[in-house]
Amino acid sequence: MDPIRKIVIVGGGTAGWISASGLAAVLKGLPITIELIESAEIGTVGVGEATVPHIRYFNARLGLDEADFMRKTQATIKLGIQFCDWGRKGEAYIHPFGAYGHAIDGLPFHQHWLAARARGEAGPIETYSLPIMAGLAGKFAPPSSDPRSLGSTFNYAYQFDASLYAQYLRAYSEARGVTRTEGKITSVQQRPNDGFVTGVTLEDGRVVEGDLFIDCSGFRGLLIEGALQAGYEDWTQWLPCDRAVAAPCASVEAPTPYTRATADRFGWRWRIPLQHRVGNGHVYCSSYVSDDEAARALVENLDGELQQDPRFLRFVTGRRKKQWFKNVVAVGLSSGFLEPLESTSIHLIQVAVTTLLELFPHRGFDPADEDEYNRVMDLEFERIRDFLVLHYHANQRDDSPFWIERREGPIPDSLAYKMALFRERGAVVGYKDGFFLEPSWLAVYFGQNILPHGHDPLVAASDPARTAKIMADLAAAVTRTVDAMPTHAAFLRAMADARTPA
Ligand code: FAD
Repeated sequence: MDPIRKIVIVGGGTAGWISASGLAAVLKGLPITIELIESAEIGTVGVGEATVPHIRYFNARLGLDEADFMRKTQATIKLGIQFCDWGRKGEAYIHPFGAYGHAIDGLPFHQHWLAARARGEAGPIETYSLPIMAGLAGKFAPPSSDPRSLGSTFNYAYQFDASLYAQYLRAYSEARGVTRTEGKITSVQQRPNDGFVTGVTLEDGRVVEGDLFIDCSGFRGLLIEGALQAGYEDWTQWLPCDRAVAAPCASVEAPTPYTRATADRFGWRWRIPLQHRVGNGHVYCSSYVSDDEAARALVENLDGELQQDPRFLRFVTGRRKKQWFKNVVAVGLSSGFLEPLESTSIHLIQVAVTTLLELFPHRGFDPADEDEYNRVMDLEFERIRDFLVLHYHANQRDDSPFWIERREGPIPDSLAYKMALFRERGAVVGYKDGFFLEPSWLAVYFGQNILPHGHDPLVAASDPARTAKIMADLAAAVTRTVDAMPTHAAFLRAMADARTPA
């Protein structure tokens, strides 16, 4: 097998530098050179500030020091996302990064909760969730490594300045031998017999050749679409929002350890508190609302003073029909786009890089590797898509045609199947190999008033009085644990003061 000798990464946004750092960390010591090309003139998309817990594992794989990373990216802690006005106006719930309670007599906690609720003996589901109660109290302490401890039942992610993260990973990558080339690519060369990409030509005439090309060129998909025409599967029938307007503002209070997503009349607004500012945006559907009106709804709802003029972005939800095609792998916005409702884009970039490394090709490019990669990434995209559609579909709002149509409109068959099972007896299926696990689905179902008709009949085997005591003890332990935690602000100060190992 003829090994890959040269990797070319096209694009230096978040996807480009995550790819560069991930490849540089794992391929070190091998005779493979990595070159990244980016164009300051074209720039990056410049949004993407909220993450999910997998970023911690990616950072750990790179060997990043957490305190140093948090200081340099102005990061805050994220224990989940607060959804306001999604079920009905005036309601709110948190999708936490962590479990509701623990299994009782071998059955999921929520099955016992449903039975206890039917008897009128259960508290609100959030009172059994440590990350929700800590988040609402503005508290944070890192999870415990003792699996028997309540403190081990949650996870966390970060809210950060994504352009600072890209700069951080650039320094990391360059220190590990990645070369960076500034320039605008004007054409792509392909082998005449099979269309494999052999090189790219820059505006000044320089040619950069390679064996494997990672297309991180953003929405334009310079190689995967521009050259290879892989095709795009459009998902706007399920996720019709097609624009966003973003604007940072000043902070007026200590940052909350959670992101907020507030449903608006024709879409939703995000609020992401960082150490030095708050990131805000409004995702909306252009067939219902004008850009000006969408921007006004954003600016009217800011916490503090506007720091930059609102910036508009356009997108089409969906995914590339082939994310790996011939010797090109599309990573980041070039691979597809799912709106940032559950902060999944950076996660998908990191899954792409780790999956590529698991299936790392040789210069012959076995089609089986390409097929397997596409199978894995297709599933990741589909599972996230279903989860996002659930948020729109499970609404009871009547204040705009947008929400009524989301409730009454089509949903993917795979989601209809999951919801039918849940409605019957509270079973959460189809999550096991995907990114969003049982508590995530439960959070949205319960938070948006989708309650099953029944519960698992095996709950009847447990003594209700004993179950009620376990649940009461758990809620009390959650309260005690939260009371003992430091505030999120105090945790951030400690991280700012922590010494970075040499
Ligand atoms: P880009 O940032 O567009 O980078 C493209 C790169 O390619 C640039 O360096 C550019 O210079 C280069 N390039 C392009 N053409 C050429 C050329 N001809 N020659 C040379 N170089 C070229 N993700 C999250 O995880 N969390 C969030 O909260 C979140 N919020 C978002 C909100 C919105 C409104 C949008 C649109 C996206 C959001 N995302 C979020 C997604 C996130 O922004 C992207 O996944 C991430 O920034 C990666 O972008 P990228 O690197 O693929 O593309």
